[in-house]
Amino acid sequence: MTDTALKPAPINHWLNGKLTPGTSGRSARVFNPATGEVQGLVDLASVDEIGAAVEAATAAAARWRTVPLSKRAEIMFRFRALLDAGRDDLARILTREHGKVHADALGEIARGIENVDFACGIPNLLRGGYSEGASTGVDVYSIQQPLGVVAGITPFNFPAMVPLWMIPNALACGNAFILKPSEKDPSASLFIADLLQRAGLPDGVFTVIHGDKVAVDALLEHPGVAAVSFVGSTPIARYIYQKGTEHGKRVQALGGAKNHMLVLPDADVNMAADAAVSAAYGSAGERCMAISVVLAVGDVAGELVDAIASRLPALKVGPGSDAANEMGPLISREHRDKVAGYIGSAAEQGATIVVDGRAQEFSGNGFFLGVSLLDHVTPDMDAYRDEIFGPVLCVVRVPTYEAGLKLINDNEFGNGTAIFTRDGGAARQFQFECQVGMVGINVPIPVPVAYYSFGGWKASLFGDTHMYGPDGIRFYTRTKVITSRWPDPAGSRVDLGFPQNR
Ligand code: NAD
Repeated sequence: MTDTALKPAPINHWLNGKLTPGTSGRSARVFNPATGEVQGLVDLASVDEIGAAVEAATAAAARWRTVPLSKRAEIMFRFRALLDAGRDDLARILTREHGKVHADALGEIARGIENVDFACGIPNLLRGGYSEGASTGVDVYSIQQPLGVVAGITPFNFPAMVPLWMIPNALACGNAFILKPSEKDPSASLFIADLLQRAGLPDGVFTVIHGDKVAVDALLEHPGVAAVSFVGSTPIARYIYQKGTEHGKRVQALGGAKNHMLVLPDADVNMAADAAVSAAYGSAGERCMAISVVLAVGDVAGELVDAIASRLPALKVGPGSDAANEMGPLISREHRDKVAGYIGSAAEQGATIVVDGRAQEFSGNGFFLGVSLLDHVTPDMDAYRDEIFGPVLCVVRVPTYEAGLKLINDNEFGNGTAIFTRDGGAARQFQFECQVGMVGINVPIPVPVAYYSFGGWKASLFGDTHMYGPDGIRFYTRTKVITSRWPDPAGSRVDLGFPQNR
C-alpha cells in the first residue's frame, strides 16, 4: 500500500453549495467498521463556523420561501429521480462507514425515498382553509408558512434514512435546513447535498455542518435557528429538548428504545421465530425499532426459544460489502465491547446464554460480534433494563398476556412493540392498551409508511409532534390566520366594541 492509500480522507462541511474545509482545527476519525481502519477525518465545527452557517442559511431562507410551490415540487421530483439512480452508490457509502450489509443499506435508502415521495406532494400538503363570508363582507383563511432556518441532528445508525425523514419536508415547506449528521458516518449527508444541488436546490438552502457537542450546543443556542429535529439516544434527546426549548425553539427529539415482542401461546411459532431473528439481528441490532426482548407467554416459551436458536447458526456475519453476508460489524470497537459486556453480566445475574456471540471468531480488526440469545432474562437484569443496541436478544418468560403487557407498559421507553397471535380480539385489545407509539400485529418492525408519522411515546420522544408525514409538515410550518374585508366606505364607522360576527 502507498502512503496516499493509508492517509484518511478529509470530510468537509457543505456550505453555500460547496465542500468547505473546516477552520476549527478539530476533527474526528471515521472508521471502516469492517476492517477497523481509519478511513476519514471529519471536520468538527466551531461556534463561529455554526454562526457563519446560520447566517448563510438565513439569507438563503428569505429567498427560498418565495419560490413557488410548483417549483419546489419539481425540485423534489428531480431529487427523487437522482436518489433512485444513486441507490447503489449511496448504499456503498453506508456500508463503508456504518458497516451494514449492502441489502440492508438499500432497504434504508428505499424507506428514505418514501419521504421524498411524500414531499413531492407539497402543493397539496400546504393547502390552507378558506371561509367565505365568516361575517358580513369578511372572509377568513389560513396559510402555513415556513419557520426560516431549521436544524436536524441525526444518529449513526441510519445515516441516510433519518436525515431523509427531515430534509424533504423541511425544504418543501420553504425552510433552509442545516444538517448536523453523526460524526461516525458523515459521508452520506454529503452525497445527499450533491444530489439536492443537482436537482436544482439553490445554494445555501441546504447545509451540512459536521461536529460534536460544540456544534450541537451552538445550534441550540443560536437565535437564528427556529426549530430542531433530533434523533438519537434518550439522554441526549432529553438534553436537546430541554436546551432547545429553553432557547425558544420548537423541538422534536426522538430517543432510544427497548422494543418488546409479545408472543401468545396461539402464535405460529415458526413465523414468530423468523420475525424475532430478523428484527433482533438485522443491522446488528443497531436499529431503534429492533426487537430486543421477546416476551414468551406461557408454554410457547420452550418451543419458541428452540426455534429461534435453531436459526442462528445459519446467519452469515461478516463485511457488509460481501453480498453473502446478512449482518455486518458494530459501529465501533468500544460499542462492540460494551454490547459483549451485557452478555457476561446477564449470565452473572442468572440468565441462560443459549447462543454466545462472543464465541464466534472473526479474522482482522473489524468490530464484529456474533449473535447472542439469552433466555430466562428477568426485568432486574442490566441486559433487560438498558438499551443494548447490538445483536443480543433477551427472552423473558411470562405466565400471562397481562404480565407481558405490564412489562411493556412499565418500561421507560415506548418506541415500538409487536404482538404475535392468531387471535384478532387479543391483538385489538393489545393495540388499545399498550403504551407504545408504534405497534405491529404480526409485524415485527412497524415503521410507519411516510404518509403517517413516526414517533414513540414516553422516553422515546420529547416534544409534541412525531417525525415525517403529516406531523412533519406541521412541525416545519407555522399557521397564520387572516381575517379580511375589502372596504365598502358606505358602511364604515367607529365601533369600540369587541368584533363580533354580524
Ligand atoms: P447519540 O445520542 O449518541 O448521537 C446522536 C446525535 O447527537 C449525533 O449527531 C451526535 O453527534 C450528537 N451528540 C452526541 N452526544 C452529544 C452531546 N453530549 N451533546 C450534544 N450532541 C450530542 O446517538 P447514536 O449513538 O448516534 O444513535 C443511536 C441511538 O439513537 C440509539 O439510542 C437509538 O435508539 C436512537 N435512535 C432512535 C431513533 C428513533 O426514531 N427514536 C432512530 C434512530 C436511532
